Amino acid sequence: MHLVCLDLEGVLIPEIWINFAERTGIEALRLTTRDIPDYDELMTRRLAILNQHGLGLREIDDVVSGMDPLPGAAAFLSDLRDAYQVVILSDTFYEFGMPFMRKLGQPTLLCHKLDVAPDGAIRHYLLRQPDPKRKSVQAFHSLNYKIIAAGDSYNDTTMLAEADAGILFRAPDNVVREFPQFKQASEYAELRAEIDAASAGLSG
Ligand SMILES: [Mg+2]
Repeated sequence: MHLVCLDLEGVLIPEIWINFAERTGIEALRLTTRDIPDYDELMTRRLAILNQHGLGLREIDDVVSGMDPLPGAAAFLSDLRDAYQVVILSDTFYEFGMPFMRKLGQPTLLCHKLDVAPDGAIRHYLLRQPDPKRKSVQAFHSLNYKIIAAGDSYNDTTMLAEADAGILFRAPDNVVREFPQFKQASEYAELRAEIDAASAGLSG
């Protein structure tokens, strides 16, 4: 039994924080781990900015609901789910990810969550576990699934390495160069072909 694990941002949907910054016009939300390498500091800053602008759960949902998956993503995912069990492994938060799931046919999403006050204000963020993508693949292995994983960035590489087959999708050149052991694809048809080839090469 083969399970496909897909990264979310950069594979099926645009980078959420960058799009959120564009939609809301809040430039400070463009900060990424390249500007503030410490993830805890970065998220604390982002949440403080959301609170300053009065953006709670309802407003976030309104903004994110106006964003769309990447062109072709919904059809790719729908076809993929006809042939494989698929789980999306992401470092986003349910509050940001779920509006996209409604547009992607409600696939299973494993990610983090926000701690939201009854009035919708965001108090803090709750990481499900450290190194969650790799841990998820290990957990699926313990259930006797063979895993084919695809992602676009550094935070996917432990997942790809842990999987039985790893594929980089639209990864930046430096990531492709640093991880030559992974197959790569830049269009959904190519990604599907790599997934099918990996599946054919795996027993079970
Ligand atoms: Mg990504």
